[in-house]
Amino acid sequence: LVIRPTPESDAELAFEGALRPRTLAEFVGQSKVRGQLQLLLDAAAMQSRTPDHILLAGPPGLGKTTLAMIVAHESNRPLRMSSGPAIQHAGDLAALLSSLVPGEVLFIDEIHRMARSAEEMLYLAMEDFRIDIMVGKGAGATSIPLDLAPFTLVGATTRSGLLPNPLRDRFGFTANLEFYDDVELEEVLARAARLLALDVPADARLEIASRSRGTPRIANRLLRRVRDYAIVRGGGAGMEAVHAALELYDVDPIGLDRLDRAVLEMIVTRFDGGPVGLNTLAVSVGEEAETIESVVEPFLVRIGMLTRTPRGRVATRRAWDHLGVRRPDSGSL
Ligand code: ADP
Repeated sequence: LVIRPTPESDAELAFEGALRPRTLAEFVGQSKVRGQLQLLLDAAAMQSRTPDHILLAGPPGLGKTTLAMIVAHESNRPLRMSSGPAIQHAGDLAALLSSLVPGEVLFIDEIHRMARSAEEMLYLAMEDFRIDIMVGKGAGATSIPLDLAPFTLVGATTRSGLLPNPLRDRFGFTANLEFYDDVELEEVLARAARLLALDVPADARLEIASRSRGTPRIANRLLRRVRDYAIVRGGGAGMEAVHAALELYDVDPIGLDRLDRAVLEMIVTRFDGGPVGLNTLAVSVGEEAETIESVVEPFLVRIGMLTRTPRGRVATRRAWDHLGVRRPDSGSL
């Protein structure tokens, strides 16, 4: 089992739903973004208008979906959820937009994966709450304008750089979510443990936090594994259960999972530490380039194990040390 930062089963989705904060005040960390969102929502409320469109960017599991739900909840508006891959044609988007009720919050996850033709329709919709629907084909084709109910678009993307500029520019506010530090993750875990009525001592919470890749979703998921362990083996959810459970699930001492390590090992052992191009790397470890780029790399870069250079990815000295591999030029005789 690899603990990936995206949900895999219905049980996990239900578990996540149960732990999701409902208000900005309950949302841990990201204090800057919280303040910015609060102001944006307050301003809209005072002027009785729909809040500006919001773009949430950051690696999976940092709270983008949660924030979209909070925006709807805090501004007392209904929420509609969709995703880029579900919008394969402009018609899919037209159907979605024309069925929104006034003031609705529309959440589009993975918005960078929406069809190009839909993107163009979205520009006009975001700007003027209007779309043009094409009827007929060839020389006889005409476009029929359709007014939409005002709405707030909340888009989520793993990397805002993947979005075309005209789309990015139409969001009134972009929040770049950062990885969480251990203290913040400990708070996420304290909250989750409380909701699960699970007694996890502070040292055990901090240990899970430090092995969660800076990601609340992973923290909650590791907590679930620790809870499983405590239920099956007895003896509570203390430090011993944490160590045993995390070892069982291949979470290494600094929280790297199997794919993180596979990427680093590939660069170090097969490519002498790099540089190696993204696509070559992706093929070598058998993963999609996009997964490597938006899921694996951001954390490895943040902890200083990987650097991106114009010629490709390079493993740092820290990576060699962490893997316990000696660098050929590291001063041996
Ligand atoms: P994303 O949409 O960015 O992939 P989600 O919003 O689905 O991430 O968050 C994943 C899980 O992590 C949710 O179950 C949520 O409970 C938890 N979570 C995320 N951010 C926070 C936070 N700031 N405080 C508390 N829990 C959080």
